[in-house]
Amino acid sequence: MAETILNVEDVTLAFGGLVANRDVTLDVARGEILGLIGPNGAGKSTLFNLISGVYRPNRGRIRFEGADITALPPAERCRRGIARTFQVPRSFDSMNVLENVTVGAFARHAKAAQARAAALETLERVDLAHRADAVAGELTPPEKRRLEVARALATGPRLLLLDEVLTGLTPSEAKAGVALIRRVAAAGVTVIMVEHVMEVVMPLVDRAVVLNLGSVLAQGLPAEVVRDEAVIGAYLGE
Ligand code: ADP
Ligand code: MG
Repeated sequence: MAETILNVEDVTLAFGGLVANRDVTLDVARGEILGLIGPNGAGKSTLFNLISGVYRPNRGRIRFEGADITALPPAERCRRGIARTFQVPRSFDSMNVLENVTVGAFARHAKAAQARAAALETLERVDLAHRADAVAGELTPPEKRRLEVARALATGPRLLLLDEVLTGLTPSEAKAGVALIRRVAAAGVTVIMVEHVMEVVMPLVDRAVVLNLGSVLAQGLPAEVVRDEAVIGAYLGE
């Protein structure tokens, strides 16, 4: 049995009367690629916000590498090894690509030269080094996604949360994105990826958790989950 890197236990978060996550419980094993899927509004991004510390739950606990992180601020979670991308890219549009990634690299390098070198290395990992001097605001949408991933990777995470980084890409861009995620995972980073479209994510993930209306509807191997009648019903009901 692989070691649990992340444990989410009975987590609930409501926005006013809307329960965005209800009693969500899941374990993530170190080294796995976990797919977090579900219809629009299911609560996927909210769960990422809870894991990364943007929100605190009303109830429940989140543990990372055995420590309770439920109440820790985002920067402290980042320091401990959790990084995430945002569904809507949050790069600094007026800065160039290298500067954007250097900001991420400062999470683990105090010296500017070291942070810059680590940022360049990260850009090479995501095949964006040729755009290092480009202004972030002028990147194409797929390049912006890559920059989001690079900014997160530059912090040196052991757990990486990817929020719809493959959405809206052409088939060949998506293929390159899949290869990148496989490389990241092969380097020892545990990955949770949110995707709305099942076909994109299922071939890539070791396991899938399906959220619907804020609750875990199903989980298991991708082949099991895609055949689950409740899952099919939830997607048809969109
Ligand atoms: P998903 O990422 O699965 O599409 P979200 O987690 O973004 O879903 O949203 C889940 C539900 O919570 C939606 O109904 C959404 O409108 C609501 N929601 C998300 N964030 C907020 C917020 N900050 N304030 C109010 N409602 C929110
Ligand atoms: Mg979302």
